[in-house]
Amino acid sequence: QAKRQGRNHYQFYTADISERFHSSVTLRNELQHVLEQNALQLFYQPIFSAHDRKVVGVEALLRWQREDGSYVSPAEFIPLAEASGQIIPISSWVLQQACHDGVALQAYGDLAVSVNLSAIQFHRANFIESMKHTLNLTGFDASKLHLELTESILLEDSRQAIRTLEALRRQNFSIAIDDFGTGFSSLSYLKQLPVDSLKIDRSFIADVIGGEHDAAIASGIISMAKRLKLQVVAEGVETEEQAAFVEAAGCHLMQGFYFAKPMPYSELVLFLERYSKTNQA
Ligand code: C2E
Ligand code: MG
Ligand code: MG
Ligand code: MG
Repeated sequence: QAKRQGRNHYQFYTADISERFHSSVTLRNELQHVLEQNALQLFYQPIFSAHDRKVVGVEALLRWQREDGSYVSPAEFIPLAEASGQIIPISSWVLQQACHDGVALQAYGDLAVSVNLSAIQFHRANFIESMKHTLNLTGFDASKLHLELTESILLEDSRQAIRTLEALRRQNFSIAIDDFGTGFSSLSYLKQLPVDSLKIDRSFIADVIGGEHDAAIASGIISMAKRLKLQVVAEGVETEEQAAFVEAAGCHLMQGFYFAKPMPYSELVLFLERYSKTNQA
């Protein structure tokens, strides 16, 4: 019985792997095509200040739209692009496009642009040079470019990572820890990190109303971060109740579907125009 079960298990497992392998090869080939056709896009999601709900910046989020109109999630193709090395040209394109759009966005206010970094990009020897090159090319200001990194990127080679962060901050870039709370960094480690802000992962925000534990974690992170003089951003705010909760807990910035979804640049500028008219207190 055990043997039969084991064998069934094994067969199931191999079928699963080869299927996944097949689909990842297909995805990778498709991605190559997309790169050649320049078919990637950036969407932008506005970020709001908690106290007056004005837009203070946007986060650039990569989109790959297939020919049939459907979107492939970055959570799905970024790991593949990292494995294949395609992440390098993709990341340079993201940075250039985000800085280019960031310059134009200044017509709508003093807005920062947040960009997500990949571990591979961050750990490359020429990373800082290429960042400076992009700023020179586009004329965007380093102080308005916010770099988002996950805890795992910083844990990989933490001494080197800290040196890179320090160098970035000397160049005036500002740095955020993304998805905060889902990694393993200790509070003492956080204290040593030269970063400017924390983005509380949306899994904690999802249950702040009604979920006692998540409410405690979210308000704990917010008060700890404030004592460390870090700016705190709540990600994934989907309701007014959640917005009110994180605001009352002292969170500085908020982002989420309740306020605005990620959208193409052309829609973003319309949103900004409309929003500034209706939200003038
Ligand atoms: P992230 O940086 O944590 O981005 C936030 C994700 O949450 C985005 O998913 C956004 O669409 C989604 N989101 C925002 N507000 C809400 C909300 O209220 N509810 C819910 N359920 N979701 C919300 P997206 O765009 O699918 O991106 C997924 C992840 O892919 C990002 O997580 C980031 O880690 C990565 N990513 C996106 N763009 C890039 C990029 O240009 N480069 C790199 N290296 N990674 C990227
Ligand atoms: Mg992010
Ligand atoms: Mg996040
Ligand atoms: Mg994430």
